[in-house]
Amino acid sequence: MRLSSRIEGILGGGSDAWGLFIRARQLKDAGQPVVELTIGEPDSRTAPAILQEMHRAAMAGHTGYAAIPGIAPLRDAIAARVEARTGVPTTRDNVLVTPGGQAALFAAHQAVTDPGDTALICDPYYATYPTTIRASAAHPRAVATRPEHGFQPQAADLAAVAQGARSLLINTPNNPTGAVYSRDTLDGIAQVARDHDLWVISDEVYDTQVWTGDHLSPRALPGMAERTMVIGSLSKSHAMTGSRLGWLIAPPEAIARMADLAVTTTYGVPGYIQEAGLFALLQGPDAEERNAAPYRRRRDLALSLIAGQKVVRAVPAQGAMYLMLDIRDTGLGGTGFAEALLDRHLIAVMPGEGFGDAAAGHVRIALTLEDAALRDALATLLDFAAELSRAR
Ligand code: PLP
Repeated sequence: MRLSSRIEGILGGGSDAWGLFIRARQLKDAGQPVVELTIGEPDSRTAPAILQEMHRAAMAGHTGYAAIPGIAPLRDAIAARVEARTGVPTTRDNVLVTPGGQAALFAAHQAVTDPGDTALICDPYYATYPTTIRASAAHPRAVATRPEHGFQPQAADLAAVAQGARSLLINTPNNPTGAVYSRDTLDGIAQVARDHDLWVISDEVYDTQVWTGDHLSPRALPGMAERTMVIGSLSKSHAMTGSRLGWLIAPPEAIARMADLAVTTTYGVPGYIQEAGLFALLQGPDAEERNAAPYRRRRDLALSLIAGQKVVRAVPAQGAMYLMLDIRDTGLGGTGFAEALLDRHLIAVMPGEGFGDAAAGHVRIALTLEDAALRDALATLLDFAAELSRAR
């Protein structure tokens, strides 16, 4: 039977970021000792106290349908966190609780684009961005960011394609580049958004992982609260990827409409997960810092190892749990290098090409291995790169 062109077109025929990841998992399932530096899956597990609260809540009966926009105390806690971190007045009416940040990305694009609209993204991008936009029957249009600008989007590049577009999706701290957008960058983005009447969808799921500079939300800039939607999540800040708990911050009228969307899609988030999320948020910023600390340490460790050789160059991440490595001096592209590294050394990294054309010639490593294992894997990667470069 024929399927809709929308669902057939979700992948869009572009580079498949997941091909190498799937092959690595197949090798692992077949018993091979594959070292995975691929997806952003924290190597720490959800804190026992959060799991205990999940259990308590389930035993207390929070197992039925839960309030669709989210339970009031959780929406209040999210609003309080956002207000404390950004200074923008925020109430529960600005908050929709979603099953993870991904569902919030989907809801945001459903809410702001009509079929055939153009939705802007910055390249390199998180691998689900184009598919999320195509699932809304809109067209993703990528705007390249460049290493010479520290992968910060330039207002002139955005303005050049903004005419007629409906939205601009940004991500700071950025996956995969690690860029943390500066005040100047965000002022430029805000100006383009106001000039061209764009919604800004700001993915801030790594807002607890900032290594240099400060995290700034575009929603805090003048005139931006009414045209900005912010994506948040407990996946990375509290190692809760599997619990699927995130949120969307937007003007109240938009939240009300997206609650209607949730009625027809997710029907909300399980009550015992929301209770556990509330407990997690109430642990405050110290718990978030404890979760973020290993990534900062490993980023420093990896950068110092990379500084000791000349073939592989690191993009010095300012935030998030990844490092992008420029491997062009090996003579291979990102995909070729990642395939060869998996074949020769059973180390799996993500090819840059899966994150857009601007990441070609790079691979992304996730800093999700404990320190000694990360050091060993990276040393092997660097030796392999040196060997390839000598053989050129
Ligand atoms: N946004 C970015 C930039 C991500 O890297 C991820 C996950 O890796 C997500 C959103 C989705 O996170 P989740 O749906 O687990 O909250």
